[in-house]
Order: sequence, then C-alpha cells, then structure tokens
Amino acid sequence: MTKIDFSAHTPMMAQYLALKSQHPDTLLLYRMGDFYELFYADAEKAARLLDITLTQRGQSAGQPVTMAGVPFHALENYLGRLIKLGESVAIAEQVGEVGASKGPVERKVVRVVTPGTLTDSELLPDKSESMLLAVHQGARARCGLAWLSVTQGVVQLAECTQAELGAWLARIAPSELVYSAGITQRFEEQLNQLRQGGAFTCPMSLRPDWQFDAALGQRKLLEHLGAASLQAWNAEGLADAHAAAAALLQYAEHTQGRTLTHVHGVRVQQGDALIHLPAATRRNLELVKTLRGEDGPTLFSLLDSCMTGMGSRLLKNWLLEPERNRTAARQRLAATQVLRGAGSGQGPWQLLRGELKGVSDVERITARIALRQVRPRELVALCKTLQKAELLALTSQAPEPYLAQIFAELQPPADCTALLHAAILEEPAALVRDGGVIAPGFDAELDELRAIQNNCDDFLLDLETREKARTAIPNLRVQFNKVHGFYIEVTASHVDKVPENYRRRQTLKNAERFITPELKAFEDKALSAQERGLAREKWLYEQVLDQLQPHVARLTRLAQALAQLDVLCCLAERSLTLNWCAPQFVNEPCIDIEAGRHPVVEGRLAETSSGAFIPNHTRLNANQRMQIITGPNMGGKSTYMRQVALIVLLASMGSHVPASACRLGPIDAIHTRIGAADDLANAQSTFMLEMTEAAQILHGATPHSLVLMDEIGRGTSTFDGLALASGIATHLHDKTRAFTLFATHYFELTELAARHAHAVNVHVGATEAGHDIVFLHEIQAGPASRSYGIQVAKLAGVPAAVLNHARHTLAALEERAGEDDLQVDLFAPPPAPEIQAVSPVESALAQINPDQLSPREALDALYQLKRLT
Ligand code: ADP
Repeated sequence: MTKIDFSAHTPMMAQYLALKSQHPDTLLLYRMGDFYELFYADAEKAARLLDITLTQRGQSAGQPVTMAGVPFHALENYLGRLIKLGESVAIAEQVGEVGASKGPVERKVVRVVTPGTLTDSELLPDKSESMLLAVHQGARARCGLAWLSVTQGVVQLAECTQAELGAWLARIAPSELVYSAGITQRFEEQLNQLRQGGAFTCPMSLRPDWQFDAALGQRKLLEHLGAASLQAWNAEGLADAHAAAAALLQYAEHTQGRTLTHVHGVRVQQGDALIHLPAATRRNLELVKTLRGEDGPTLFSLLDSCMTGMGSRLLKNWLLEPERNRTAARQRLAATQVLRGAGSGQGPWQLLRGELKGVSDVERITARIALRQVRPRELVALCKTLQKAELLALTSQAPEPYLAQIFAELQPPADCTALLHAAILEEPAALVRDGGVIAPGFDAELDELRAIQNNCDDFLLDLETREKARTAIPNLRVQFNKVHGFYIEVTASHVDKVPENYRRRQTLKNAERFITPELKAFEDKALSAQERGLAREKWLYEQVLDQLQPHVARLTRLAQALAQLDVLCCLAERSLTLNWCAPQFVNEPCIDIEAGRHPVVEGRLAETSSGAFIPNHTRLNANQRMQIITGPNMGGKSTYMRQVALIVLLASMGSHVPASACRLGPIDAIHTRIGAADDLANAQSTFMLEMTEAAQILHGATPHSLVLMDEIGRGTSTFDGLALASGIATHLHDKTRAFTLFATHYFELTELAARHAHAVNVHVGATEAGHDIVFLHEIQAGPASRSYGIQVAKLAGVPAAVLNHARHTLAALEERAGEDDLQVDLFAPPPAPEIQAVSPVESALAQINPDQLSPREALDALYQLKRLT
C-alpha cells in the first residue's frame, strides 16, 4: 500500500484524509461539533443526493476545502435517505477528550451503515428483512451462497451451479450483494447481466479475495454455533458456501464494528426442498408487489393482518418459501384450527391478538442488544413485552403440540424482566449520553451523585441565609453562572463589610463577586457530580448490556415464538373473516378445488360493490393434466388461472384457502408465463422474453409442477404464434406432463384436447344480449363457441362505425374460410418414431386405472372418453 503524505494539510484535514483512505468507496461523515461534515468529492455527491448546501471554507494544502454538512440530531433521517439510494456511509465520531492532547480530538469510524447491514428500526422497513448476501465463485461453474439478516441470528447457506444462480438471487432478494475482487471476468459479466435482467436489484460491494476462504468460513461458523462440527446442521463439506460465509461474516463485522454474538444458527437450503417460485411467478401472481411495483393490493397485503412487524416478516417468509414436504404446512394448519376455536367468530385467536397488540420488535431489539446499539427506550419496550409474554406463557395452554411449544418458548429468561425494570427509567432519555436513563435505586453511587445535584438549590439558599446573618449584609446573594461558577455577590456599598475569608472572583460596575473555601469545595463537588453522574450512567448502561448478553439466545427464540403466534392468529383470523377452508394434502397427483375464488379480485369486487365473485371448480389429476381455456377477453381466464395458483400456494404454506374444499397432491413448482400489458412497448424483445420464459418452463417443469400459460405466441405473427403455442402445449402434455392451465385466443388449439388423452377444453361462459355481451365468469366444459372480440371492443368504447365495419369483415372472412381449405392440421402427430398409431380413446383408456377412481372420477373419465370419439 502506498503511504499517503498528509503533511501538507491542516492537522484536522490530515486526520480526516487518513480515515477516508480506509473507506474509499463509502461516504464518510465526520463529526465536528454539532454537525457531521463531508469533504471534497463526498461533499459534492452528498450535496447532489441530499440537496444540501455545498460550501468552500478555509484552505488545506493550498486548496480551498469543499464541504457539506448535516446537523447531528438529523443524522438518522439523512442516513435513511442515503441508504435508500443504495449508498453506504461510514460514521466517524469524536472518541477522545476535547483538549486531552494537542491537535484535533481523536476520531474513529464507529460504524458503517450499508443497505444490507442496517439494524436501526427507524431505518428498516417493518415488514421486510434486509438481507446481506455473499456470493463465492467456486470451481467447475459452481457457486457458494451465504446470507443473513443482521437483525436475525441465522446464517443461511446454499450451493448451486452458475446457471441456477439467477433463480437463487431472485428468491433471496438481497439488499446488498458482497462479491470477491478475484472473480473471473465472465462471472462478473454474469452477475451484471442478472442485475440488468432484474434477478436482483441491490447494490454490490467488492471485498478482497482472501476473505472468501472456506477454512476461515468453517471456523467462523463453528465459533458462532459453539460446536465442534457442522454435522448436526448438515453443513459439512460445503466449501463454496463456507467461503461465502467467511466473507459475509467479516463484512457484517466490519460494518457493525464488532462480532455478531447473536448469530447462533446455520441453515442449509437445498435447492429441492422448497416449492420453486420463479421470479416471473412472484411477479405475475402479484404475491408481494403489484405488477406496477406497489405494495398493494397483493396476496400478501390481503393476508397480512399481523399485529407485529415480526409477524409480518415471518408471514412473508412462509408465503415466499413454501416447503415441498408438507410437514410444516400440516403443523400450521393444525395450530390454526385450534386458534379458530369453534368457528363462531369468538376464538382463542381473538384473545391472543389482543395481547399481541403493541408487542415490541423483540427480534430487532435483541439483535441490537447483542450489537450493543440498543437505545434506552427500546429496552423499556422490551421489558413491557417480556412482562406480557410471561403472563401469556403462564396462562395459555394448548393440547396441540406446535402451539404448546410456542407457549413454552414465550417464558422470558429468568431475571431479565426484573433487571430491565430495576435498571431503566420508565421514560428514559432518547440517548444514554444525555443521562436520565438509569432508574433511581439501581445504583447507590449514582443516586448520591444525583442527590448532590438536586440538593444544590437547598445548599445555596442555606448558605445565603447563613452568610447574611454572619456579615449583616442584607442584599448578599449566592449565585451561579456557567462562566464563573458559584459566587457570593455583594454590592459596592457593602463591600467594606465582607469577612476575611472572602476571595475576590470578579469586579463589576456596582458589585464585587467573592468565593469562600466552603463555596469552592461545594462547587467542585457539584460540577464533578454532574460529570461523574453522566459517566456513571454510561458505565451502568454498559453493565446492563453485559448482563443481558447471556439472554440473547433465549430472547431470540422468544421473538420467534411471538412471530409464529402472530402469524398463526393472523391465518386463523383471515380464514374466518374471508370464509376460507382448510386444504387437505394427499399423495396422489391432483389439484382438486371446489368453488375456488381469487382472493384479491374477490376483495376488490366487494370493496367496489361490483357484484359477487363467481366461484369455479378445478379438477386436475393424473388423467386430466391440462386445461385448454378459451373464451372472450375479459371473460375471466387470467383470473381463473391465477386463482388456482394462489390456492395451491396458500395451501402449501399452511394457510386456509378461498374455496369450499381443496385436495392437493405433491407440488414442486409453480411456473407462470403471463404477458404483462406494459411489456408490449417493445415487441421484439417481448417475444424474446416470452420464448425465454417458455423455454425455462419446458426445461424446468415436472409432472408435479403447476404451469400457467397465458396467451403464449401473442408476440409474433399469427401463424408463427399458433405453431409455437401448439408445439409448446403438445410438449407440456406429452413430455413434461405438468399440471397445465393453457389460456389461448387461438381457437385452433381446442383441437388439441380432442386429440390428446390428458387434455380437456374449458371455456369462460358469456352470453349475448343483442349486440352486447354478458360475461358469466363461469368455467364451463368444452371449447368456447366464438370469441366475442367485437362485443368486447364495443364495451371498451370503440366507435360504432368501426364496429360495423369489423362485423362485415368478420362475416366475409368466415365465409372465405368455409370455401378455401385454410384449415391447417396443427395436431397431426409428427413423424417421430416414439409416437404409436393408437387412437386418442385407446391411449386415454390405457391411462385409466379403474381401481383408483372414485365414482365421480369414473363418471368424469367416461365423459372424457365420450368426447374423444
Ligand atoms: P381474461 O383473462 O379472460 O381477459 P380476466 O381474468 O382479466 O379476463 O378478467 C377480467 C375481469 O373480470 C376481472 O378484472 C374481474 O373484474 C372480472 N372477473 C374475472 N373472473 C371473475 C369471477 N370469477 N367472478 C367475478 N368477476 C370476475
């Protein structure tokens, strides 16, 4: 490293530049009195970003110093804005005593605030986590991933191929991505492409390559776990992930200025443990953001009636990371069932939610205790919550094992509440440095120091009375000011009466001010009492934090229990309020939904009093895997398809579902290919995107996946589009064999169901009234009879003359179609060797196992066979 010569600068600028050289990529806020100042390029950047004034002052090294500053009391506000803009900020505080040595007060960077390592509840959104992710490029095109939220206590690990990286990044949705300076150019390009493609959007931070060290990572993880082996966590042998964990933890420590003592957990995520929800699916189904990027109305905004931020964050996690294995979902459903009570509206959930109201964010407060950043008022909030939790743990009983476990975890660690109660004032000052934080009676020395300050007035009055009597000076006064301290003031007319032990302090125009040994002694005691009192409070506060450290692990578990209870109560409440039913999990492949509804559309209809939502059934199973959905635009095709996906997702996370009954077989992924209206701006790239997404689905989907295809092929010419749509549908039917809902405006595709055993035609019903159309929003068997395009155009306000013209053209086209043999046989089997010349009926029959069919299914199968003849 080259040594920088700061000698040409003023001592203070030299100090600043030395600190800045350690944080070259970070804005440095340098404390000067009541301001945090930025200098040079940092000042220019901050002035631009924050719209604060840029000034030039003095000179250093012969150049004027450009600077910009923010008042110290408004720091959090400016920090919040900078972090939102993706900036990182290092904060240098004065740590030395003013005047303790020559030159500027000693300053140190006490913390670095970055988008992925925020801990301050005022800077963090209540309802989402801020994830810090480290990506390590391993050998043989593999990647190691490690991520954590600094306010939680768990490091998550995963390994994947470079090809899978995009999907992982989309799921983890980091707030900041840490990567090594030593990655290959190709890998860096891939990261940049993924970022441009929207797989992730956060800022990226470069770290030195040596920090990505597998052995170091393993050692650090073991330290955090306090264990000798990673075996119990199934986290052995993941060298690439360990390397990422090393960089992750070092970066987190660097920003917090200390080790993260509250990180006690490791979780390895296997790629195949979760139901795969690709980025397109999250977007298209509007799970947590609307297509326009807003927070609501979405499935999450509808679902989230949690009373605490902890609950909301956990709920979001359950929603976005449903497990394939349905153990957790079953547990949650069983617990929700108990919380719902008899279902009359009055259930245990109501009482519990009353208690959860106003509960503080124990999870974040606990992390801040461990990081020693916690503020006095947060401790008071924690204390109140612990008292509540203790009461809940004592009074709640549940025969259901999951709830019983939650209630047991609610018991706060012994003495923790008592300590907080005894130590901290009920309404403490905002910051420890101002004093007024530690409760009276907690520390005898502090009480004494405070008594001295409080007794000050009494003492002065008493002294004044005594001195008046002794000197016979009637207007003698004992007073205090900041500059001169304590003094006895005597007017000029009485100066001749002052006793011998008076020492002159100051002479005014008409009076003299004196000090006596007694007053001097008192002055020393009073002034030092105030200073010592403040120092004592700071020290005591640190002591309290020390005493809280051993409780961090228990408090973290208590926070999780509160969050789980909150989510379960929320699910119980939602299921009752919205009239949802409990799904049933079965092992045979099926998605059986009776009277399913789209919860968000239903909510919107109710809100705007636009009529009732029409429920629809869905029946997909081993014999009937594909629905070709036709019908007019605006008929309800997209709504129907999305509702099926939402119901499957809700069931998989352990929620009740908007239906009257639901049976669900194993599901491994929900894929969606749905064109967003605003994609249409750029037809070329839209088509490319459409085909890329379709290709990903064709490669990725399995017989346990649910696939939604909406209007595939729309992005190109009619014949191309139709040919591709039929090719894709056929592949999904024959090869992928996923549960597929395939909405199309290519009427020709309805032929597919006639020729393929596992596909059926359905359509959204509509009727005509004169030239008008009435949508029934009802899914009916068979293909749509016509497309009603002109009627929909009329609804949209297209002028009557245009509609008339269109009617004539349509009639002419339909006539021509009858004459010329334009009909292309789209579904003639390709001359591939594996396709046998069996009739559709034969192949359908071969798929049926009469012993496995319910009477209802047998009847359905019979209808289906009949349709194939
Ligand atoms: P399509 O995909 O066929 O063009 P949509 O699914 O977008 O049609 O539905 C259009 C509108 O019709 C929706 O915004 C909603 O207001 C209404 N709608 C759809 N399905 C239903 C239903 N089952 N019950 C009531 N209204 C519905």
